[in-house]
Amino acid sequence: MNFVSNYFNWLQKNNPENSVESYPEIDEQNETSLPGVYIVGDLTGIPMLKLAADGGSKIVKRLFSGQKTTSEKANNSDIYDLVIVGAGPAGISAAIECKKRNINYIILESSRILNTIENFPKEKPITLKPDRVRLEVPLEMADGTKETLLHELTIQIERENLNIEVGTFVHKLSREENTIHIETNKKMYLAQKVILSIGKAGKSRQLKVPGELLPKVFNKLYDPGEFTGKNILVVGGGDSSLECSIALAESGNRITHSYRKEEFSRPKEENINRFNGLVEQGSIIPFLESIVTEIREEKVFLKTKEEVKAIPNDVIFILIGRELPTQLFKRSGIRMEGEKGVSWWWFMVASISFFSMLYFGKGGTAFDLFVESNTVWAKIIAYLSAPFKAPLNWDLSGYKWYSSLNFILGWAGSMVFLISGIGSLGLLARHGRTNFRTPWHAFKYTYFIGVSGFFTILYFSKSLHNTMVTAEWIESPTYWYSLFYCVTMLIFGIRRIYVRKTLYVFWQMTTLVSIQIFFLFLFPFHLYEPLILANLGTNHWAVTELFPSGKWSSFALILFWPLICGNLEVAFSGHGFLLYRLA
Ligand SMILES: Cc1cc2nc3c(=O)[nH]c(=O)nc-3n(C[C@H](O)[C@H](O)[C@H](O)COP(=O)(O)OP(=O)(O)OC[C@H]3O[C@@H](n4cnc5c(N)ncnc54)[C@H](O)[C@@H]3O)c2cc1C
Repeated sequence: MNFVSNYFNWLQKNNPENSVESYPEIDEQNETSLPGVYIVGDLTGIPMLKLAADGGSKIVKRLFSGQKTTSEKANNSDIYDLVIVGAGPAGISAAIECKKRNINYIILESSRILNTIENFPKEKPITLKPDRVRLEVPLEMADGTKETLLHELTIQIERENLNIEVGTFVHKLSREENTIHIETNKKMYLAQKVILSIGKAGKSRQLKVPGELLPKVFNKLYDPGEFTGKNILVVGGGDSSLECSIALAESGNRITHSYRKEEFSRPKEENINRFNGLVEQGSIIPFLESIVTEIREEKVFLKTKEEVKAIPNDVIFILIGRELPTQLFKRSGIRMEGEKGVSWWWFMVASISFFSMLYFGKGGTAFDLFVESNTVWAKIIAYLSAPFKAPLNWDLSGYKWYSSLNFILGWAGSMVFLISGIGSLGLLARHGRTNFRTPWHAFKYTYFIGVSGFFTILYFSKSLHNTMVTAEWIESPTYWYSLFYCVTMLIFGIRRIYVRKTLYVFWQMTTLVSIQIFFLFLFPFHLYEPLILANLGTNHWAVTELFPSGKWSSFALILFWPLICGNLEVAFSGHGFLLYRLA
């Protein structure tokens, strides 16, 4: 057993530990699963002041690019064009852009303006990144300290005279018809659109070790000057933890810094350099690859690779990040990344049963079940009771069971697909605004509905009209199946190239799609006979060796390529058998 767990640990060696933080699910327009509600700032990724401000400004430009502003249309003061939740750099930048465009907006801020920055440690150095990327930041900001940054930003915010309501905590968002209802601790606000720029400053993450609730344990450093001559342990691997160690070491404390990984990879280079400088001076003792196992009044236990060490300790700062403020999303029914809602499961069951119907129904024996039933009801009953009426044969000899099994799986797939497909259609229609919100979404779902409808009709109209032989429709549906497969690859390949505009993706998709279209459609159905058979004849060695199963061997050329690379003959004959079973 040890060997097995060691092996899996080895396999996972370079994978990130713990679970990945889940963010609200957004589309390429930053819209959440609640239509009309958008996300900007830290909640969309890298936590940086300039990126947050850039995001806030850009989203307003995008959302209101073609729209008439309030000065041109009737101003309904009850319903805001835009409610911005959170007065951090992202929310403030969005508001400045709204003001420029005469958009009827308000910022709702639960605490004070720029609360996250106000909470930075005293005299915390500010580094503004990225330098070389072109950003649209309406707020002027320069490197300095927390105090200089706050001063600079406050002057600009006062000059702009923005519409901000402080002390207003947003609990929940909901949508009724075309209006978003914003429930707060004060009153209900109504808006056509909402931007959530609430940052990530939710609850601090915990180590979950004994003693963590002792009064000497902190999750935030306000003023390093409050501590001198103390034994302090700082835990964490990000910028905040390094800056905390640096500030406390410079205030004359003895710092032990614990981090669970073997090196710091996330913090800014300047912070790592300053940290290493203090390590060299002996003001900070780093314990990499260590974890805290217990906290007591006067000491703390650190488990390193070699031993468990008891270290004298007066104060602890646990700075291992913050949990996202997920409650607001949960209360508002905003889906988080990776969350599988009811619709997801319906669509999943519908897809699997659809492919089961298509694949097994195609390969199975068809039975003449409808012939004697004249009315629609009789046909439905005949179909429902098909497994009991059909002359199935489970004899093991000569693979007689094969067709019967295919028939049963195709039938079961079709039954489940009918139910889950109708359910999925209902869900698509019910959440029509979300599912069909952009031309691409509308096209995507219409395409899938069209393709499934087409094959369902094909399956029902043909599969049960033959008697005791392999379904005669094998050829034409396979043609359509290949065609739709290739068209699907082409459409989604082009879409991927459009969304991810990199040279790598362009060539990756172009090669993948062209190879598939050639070997799965063009060659077998349109080129094999006129080019190969007509010119070489059936006895030519190239035909017998490379195409032992006729045009179907073209599928083997790419679908089973690792096999045919190893041993051409065996692989071909093995695959030939599979194709024989299919055809
Ligand atoms: C300790 C620390 C040091 C940092 N140092 C740097 C640095 O040197 N350089 C750098 O570029 N970046 C730094 N950052 C990151 C930077 O602070 C963030 O990227 C930036 O503040 C994000 O802006 P935001 O507008 O998305 O969110 P925030 O600035 O976090 O603003 C969110 C606002 O929303 C409010 N809010 C939250 N929930 C609600 C609610 N339900 N209702 C109403 N209001 C709500 C909050 O009170 C807050 O005011 C640091 C962050 C921390 C924590």
